[in-house]
Amino acid sequence: MLNGSFREAGSTYLRLKDVDAATFHVFYYWLNSGVVDYTNGDPSTAASQIWQNAIDAYIFADFHQAQVFKNAFLDSLYLYYEKNNLMCVSITGTLYANTVAHDAMRNFIVCIAAGTLSFKSVQMHGGAELCEKAFLFDVILASQERILVPAVDAGLWLADMRKNFCEHYHTHKKTGIS
Ligand SMILES: [Zn+2]
Repeated sequence: MLNGSFREAGSTYLRLKDVDAATFHVFYYWLNSGVVDYTNGDPSTAASQIWQNAIDAYIFADFHQAQVFKNAFLDSLYLYYEKNNLMCVSITGTLYANTVAHDAMRNFIVCIAAGTLSFKSVQMHGGAELCEKAFLFDVILASQERILVPAVDAGLWLADMRKNFCEHYHTHKKTGIS
């Protein structure tokens, strides 16, 4: 990806050598509008592409420690999932290869998978082979810790997730003023 940090020698320029144009567009559009749009203005964008854009943009933001974007991005993906109930598990390989353990996006995806997907449906759609093994393992661990039976009511599960979303998935820098 990019060379060096977001802020280099006090100036704010980005080196765009290896950044995909679609990924950068998501980021740039958000900077200017405050809106996260993974479709880049095309409503016919396939769910698999939306997930791909979302994960690529997240990795880009994570690499540059652009925390505000990461938070906005997680909120936006939550709303997308709540509305469409569609998750593209093939992105888990890219996500796990480019983030560290306890990453907020990993936690988020593991949580929605453990709470709302059934392994039966994943297998039916041939998704299990597309999943990163470490992701499947995390989902199993998360499932053991929770009381709800998977996918009994995905809507309720998601609504419950919303309550502590900031606490569980956001990172807010301490300002030093309390
Ligand atoms: Zn927050």
